[in-house]
Amino acid sequence: MKIKIFTFGCKVNQAESSGLQQLFSAQGMEQADRVEDADLLIVNSCAVTDESVRKVRQLLRSIQRKNPDALIALTGCWPQAFPDDDFCGADYVTGTKDRDALLQWAVQCMKLRPLASETCITPYRSAKDVFSPLPCADTTKTRAFLKIQDGCNQFCSYCIIPFSRGRCRSMPLERLETEVENLAQQGFREIVLTGINLGFYGTDIGCDLADAVEICAAHPKILRVRLGSLEPERITNEMLGRFAACEKFCPQFHLSLQSGSDVILKRMNRRYTAAEYEALAAAIRSLFPDAALTTDVIVGFPSEHEAEYQETVRFVRKIGFAKVHVFPYSKRAGTKAADMEDQIPQTVKIQRSADLTRIANALRRSHLSKYVGRTLCVLVEGKKRQNA
Ligand code: SF4
Repeated sequence: MKIKIFTFGCKVNQAESSGLQQLFSAQGMEQADRVEDADLLIVNSCAVTDESVRKVRQLLRSIQRKNPDALIALTGCWPQAFPDDDFCGADYVTGTKDRDALLQWAVQCMKLRPLASETCITPYRSAKDVFSPLPCADTTKTRAFLKIQDGCNQFCSYCIIPFSRGRCRSMPLERLETEVENLAQQGFREIVLTGINLGFYGTDIGCDLADAVEICAAHPKILRVRLGSLEPERITNEMLGRFAACEKFCPQFHLSLQSGSDVILKRMNRRYTAAEYEALAAAIRSLFPDAALTTDVIVGFPSEHEAEYQETVRFVRKIGFAKVHVFPYSKRAGTKAADMEDQIPQTVKIQRSADLTRIANALRRSHLSKYVGRTLCVLVEGKKRQNA
């Protein structure tokens, strides 16, 4: 059986698709390069915005047209968060919780083509859910994205993820040691620890993110340890001290800000103030003078008037981020913010997004210019095709 996987959304979804790919290969399934050559097409969906779901629908329809004989399986955050939606006639539908069931169904299909479509979406049952590991992603044979945490307990008012990923749960440290050993033996030299809310790693199993970093760094063949996206409120000075004591730790912190206005942060149900964020940035820079601080900012959140927006602009300038991902607020059905009054017109969102992106690009140029003339150690990931 030839399969092809399409992935939408975050690094965790990408890591999971790669893990699924390895599970399917272990069952003797080959990878198809083109839609037309596949017997089974798998779509790993994202539901973070209405737009992401629209794109998944669009893909489902186009692959059905291109290869009407292929079986189609839909998985990921969309079905998990909205189990009653119409999934465009997919043959098998499952969420983020029942990845094993998807594998079993695919193996069954190798023997006998199903006559009817099937759905397997198990709701999350809060603290009872355990972390279900998938084989680690091998995007390049040098750098591995290792998902060690899943779920989120924060319920930010604009975010659907807690509904599609359940409560926080972590990979046990013993399993992490095994994964690190496997990756090192496969030749990986950098491990990027990822999660839905990575900063919460270990809160359910009595350890923390610094423990995970130290386990990765302890392996002689692993040269670098990097962190995926972080929420500011979980990073303590004690943790920073342990990161700083770890020579292999990559001083890049993607600390999600979302807004520089305390009024808006409150309405977003974010758990920190601009001053607390600034203090954390200062603590990071005192331990890592060369740190790269990157972030995400939402512009045009309900009730973000010009004054609040300008607070965000001033704050972004003050921190001097190495990179800022700017997102115009996108209403997401099922979230509190979607029902909030004082929604901002789309034209204003687009204008603010362009404005802040321009400012962020200038900050990035000044960050990168600091390195001109310096000699740095780099990790080679591969060759670019056009000038091999
Ligand atoms: S911390 Fe907030 S934005 Fe991040 S996944 Fe959780 S609810 Fe969503």
